[in-house]
Amino acid sequence: MRNAIDYHIHTKLCGHASGTTDEYIREAINKKLKEIGFSDHAPLPEGLREGITMLPEETENYIKLIEQKRKEYNNQIDIKIGFEIDFPLTDALGRKYLNDNRLDYLIGSCHFLGDWAFDHPDNVSGFKNRDINEIYSDYYKIISDLVQSGYFNIVGHFDLVKKFGHRAKADFTKTVENLALSITRNKNIAVEINTAGIRKPVNELYPSENIIEIFYRMNVPLTFGSDAHKPEEVGYMFDKAEETIKKAGYRKISGYSKKQRYDILL
Ligand SMILES: [Zn+2]
Ligand SMILES: [Zn+2]
Repeated sequence: MRNAIDYHIHTKLCGHASGTTDEYIREAINKKLKEIGFSDHAPLPEGLREGITMLPEETENYIKLIEQKRKEYNNQIDIKIGFEIDFPLTDALGRKYLNDNRLDYLIGSCHFLGDWAFDHPDNVSGFKNRDINEIYSDYYKIISDLVQSGYFNIVGHFDLVKKFGHRAKADFTKTVENLALSITRNKNIAVEINTAGIRKPVNELYPSENIIEIFYRMNVPLTFGSDAHKPEEVGYMFDKAEETIKKAGYRKISGYSKKQRYDILL
């Protein structure tokens, strides 16, 4: 892949990723990526963040560390600074560090329906307790609010709710089309093609190919993320990701600098 970028990379600070930032960066250089962005989990409210996100007092060190690495590797690769932020657990929103002008982008992600962390392997049984169509419609309602909040640059793992292979029985095409419309009203939002889904039970990209086709038809910009929690996961299956979006018609993806979106030709 000629101009590959990986905008979804974690660090040890979140408590469930391994390896040093240098190891992630070297892996990206080895894989000839053009740009990478660190987007570690921004602090969740106290009581929820243990082993999931960094602490509020760690955000400054995080930003400084990535800024330092950006300088260090300046002539080898472009390094961006971002956060992955839980929505609607908005405790973090409005926090000063999220409006920091050193940041290049914010990824908005939904990992919780109420207090149910539905994407955590320990909580899979929660899918048995409720109607699957209701779960999907609650999930997409949150994604819709996330997009309309205007707060985020990238929608993270768009259809994460399918992670363990639970599929909606109803047809959500109309819902996805409405979301696409709402995304394109804000010229600064892209949806992430997240390759982590291939490593999970569902065994496919987030979002699914049929959603990618809807997005192409409706002019939704895309960007790429591996959701790496280990250095070797950087750029994971990006050839497959590129092939899939090209098949749908895409010839460019989006990068961000200081929260401004720009095109990168594939
Ligand atoms: Zn994580
Ligand atoms: Zn996530």
